[in-house]
Amino acid sequence: MKPTFQMQWVNGPWGDPALLVRIRWARRALLFDLGSMATVPSGDLLRVSEVFVSHTHLDHFVGFDHLLRTVLGRDRILSLFGPPGIIGNVEGKLRGYTWNLVQGYPLRLEVFEVDPDWIRGAHFACKEAFRRQDLAARPFTGELWDEPGFRIRAAHLDHQIPCLAFAIEEPFHINIDKERLAGLDLPVGPWLAELKAKIRAGVGDETQIPVGWPGGRTETFSLGELKGAIISVTPGQKMAYVTDALYSPENVARLVTLAKGADALYCEAAYLDRHASLAAERFHLTARQAGLIARQAEVRRLVLFHFSPRYQGETEAFHREAREAFGGWVTVPGGHWD
Ligand SMILES: [Zn+2]
Repeated sequence: MKPTFQMQWVNGPWGDPALLVRIRWARRALLFDLGSMATVPSGDLLRVSEVFVSHTHLDHFVGFDHLLRTVLGRDRILSLFGPPGIIGNVEGKLRGYTWNLVQGYPLRLEVFEVDPDWIRGAHFACKEAFRRQDLAARPFTGELWDEPGFRIRAAHLDHQIPCLAFAIEEPFHINIDKERLAGLDLPVGPWLAELKAKIRAGVGDETQIPVGWPGGRTETFSLGELKGAIISVTPGQKMAYVTDALYSPENVARLVTLAKGADALYCEAAYLDRHASLAAERFHLTARQAGLIARQAEVRRLVLFHFSPRYQGETEAFHREAREAFGGWVTVPGGHWD
């Protein structure tokens, strides 16, 4: 089975937080946090359609300018979701530059700030020098994004300031049985992507699907027929992204609900257990606490990041401490545990 979400941690466990998630069937990517983007190829940045920002501390948001610069000339909408105040933060960044000679630039930004009850939005069009235009608010009930292939939920955390954790979830995964395809003399081709898109969209089994062979021959089958013959449906992929948070009962309860059963939990571990009181003072987690959350949430794999530079050279200690608390599979991006 080829997973739908292909995750790439951008800056290593000591660098700025940023997780690129490529969506295999869509030539599209999502970003969780906007730490330094300097190492991300522009081809990847150009595919980013939605960005989810946990909070606007410098190390989580400094990459905004780089992303904006990369997509500036494009005819598209870039959407950002973040905690209360992010519309003002984006507006402030945009006001920091001079925008003349951009009347022909069709890029639009849509920024949504998520408070516990409402999502407020604002629109900034490049050709209007990114003048802010407020959008109508809508109620927030835990979900930020919902489309046929996946949905994204958020939870509010206490990091002394409001901070968001996110989970991306695929409702189910569609697998094509290549052997049965060959056994039935059906061709491999673009029709398979269209078939999957129709299944994700939930169209009826009677829907007719044209199947094209190289050379021009076409035959039509019903979706139900094809489903029975070559498709198997398995549980979808789930990933949770957590940074930065105090280890408090409220935060833990929200995180466990959000990350429950995830295939991968990306979780900050700024401190080691020997500095647990400092971690609490700074509203951050330790590696042990990340492990305890992973255990309670029953995730399949815990990925640690955001190590404080004071521990340079102690990567193994983060790994050991989290694994002891979790009792499961722990990885560190870029390390030999990856
Ligand atoms: Zn941070």
